[in-house]
Amino acid sequence: MVVGAGVAGLTAARDLAEAGHDVLILEATDRSGGKLRAGEVAGVTVDVGAEAMLHRRPEGTALATGLGLPITHPTAATSRVWTRDALRPLPRTLMGAPLDLDQLEASGILSAEGIRDARHQRVQQPHGDVSVGELVASRFGSEVVDRLVEPLLGGVYAGQAHRISARSAIPQLVDLIARPEFTLPTPPADAPPVFASVDGGMWRLPAALEADLRDRPGVEVRHGVTVTAVRRTGSGFVVTAASGDETADLLVLATPAAPTARLVVDLAPAAAEELRQIGYASVALVTLAFRADDSGVTESLDIGASGFLVPPVDDRAIKASTFSFAKWDWVRAAGEGLLVLRTSLGRFGEEATLQVPDEDLVKASLADLAAATGITAPPVDAVVQRWGGGLPQYWVGHLERVTRIRASVAEVPGLALCGAAYDGVGIPATIGSAHRAIADLLA
Ligand SMILES: Cc1cc2nc3c(=O)[nH]c(=O)nc-3n(C[C@H](O)[C@H](O)[C@H](O)COP(=O)(O)OP(=O)(O)OC[C@H]3O[C@@H](n4cnc5c(N)ncnc54)[C@H](O)[C@@H]3O)c2cc1C
Repeated sequence: MVVGAGVAGLTAARDLAEAGHDVLILEATDRSGGKLRAGEVAGVTVDVGAEAMLHRRPEGTALATGLGLPITHPTAATSRVWTRDALRPLPRTLMGAPLDLDQLEASGILSAEGIRDARHQRVQQPHGDVSVGELVASRFGSEVVDRLVEPLLGGVYAGQAHRISARSAIPQLVDLIARPEFTLPTPPADAPPVFASVDGGMWRLPAALEADLRDRPGVEVRHGVTVTAVRRTGSGFVVTAASGDETADLLVLATPAAPTARLVVDLAPAAAEELRQIGYASVALVTLAFRADDSGVTESLDIGASGFLVPPVDDRAIKASTFSFAKWDWVRAAGEGLLVLRTSLGRFGEEATLQVPDEDLVKASLADLAAATGITAPPVDAVVQRWGGGLPQYWVGHLERVTRIRASVAEVPGLALCGAAYDGVGIPATIGSAHRAIADLLA
């Protein structure tokens, strides 16, 4: 049995089915996909959750291709940083740590003092796990952290640079920071793209996974079933939901850390205690559609940028905007005559900023877009999607915490955990955690 039909749970279910097991999948909401979700704005179907996946990690594109989905890549449009009152080019960085200081200086993202500080490099060997913020500040100064690392980490984790673990989030940075030359080779022009998506939207991945599962004999996907408790019976499990009890020989919990902690509290109390320590950030995405021929719309928005990031130090409401129409050819084609884009709001510890009506999130987004790009025309449609507790926080010590969780769960034969809380929050890492969980379970 699998609890949770996000991308991790669906992948785990498919791996179990491939190994010849009957599988029952119980999902609390009325649909599969978790954070991969379609929404409609001005009649155009777009992602209102995750929209891309790392292409360099194979698990996401391999799964999508195996399901017959067409892979697409972002256009050549590049991101900007909205800071110091202008949209500035994003220089080459490793999650905000600058790989080219001349490019950084030319971007105007840092003050003259910030640039002096960044150039005054201090090479240090980090001791143990430290935060990304501490690590980058120790080499390049705090302004690099405030204006580059924070917005980039904010995009992935909605987290704070001074809490996120460098070893868990960016192991390559830990290696590189201790070297005299902080540099990576510039990728050749024909290098494979870094990111990918599914043509028509990432939401198509769980939809295809679910369709594949439903085609298999012995597999059942049930929606609207919240699992509330799990207990041991003989060598198997009894799983309790409002609809009644179910029994299972093998149990995979593909749920976020907080519900997982509640479900394993009797089976693996040490894991439950560790899971409770994993924080989650809430975010909201506002998807907006503008009519391309409305006054000033194209001039303000269609500027060759894929969007922009906003450093928290600048105290704006939004933390980023993705110009979906410019980033994805399929969005531009689907939204004929429209420019569809989205803004994101919310960081860990700033839940209060989201505790306002949807209209206020739209208004705040429009005000920031106007200030950043000059757009004044009203959108023809706006859709707000909230992701309460959407993103796990990989704080300093996360790797050791996950090791302790796995050790505790290993004492319960037949039980496995997978999902975004463990080995990476991105889609490929989440899929990888499901493959790993099933391989361990069946070993
Ligand atoms: C706004 C946003 C944007 C993102 N953008 C990207 C991106 O562009 N690229 C990328 O790689 N990653 C992105 N991510 C991260 C990525 O989407 C997620 O980490 C990943 O999809 C999580 O998958 P999952 O299966 O682990 O969990 P989830 O998607 O959270 O699925 C867990 C499922 O378990 C169900 N559930 C919970 N409790 C119970 C219960 N008691 N009983 C039954 N069911 C239960 C939930 O309803 C849910 O369907 C984004 C995340 C968010 C929030």
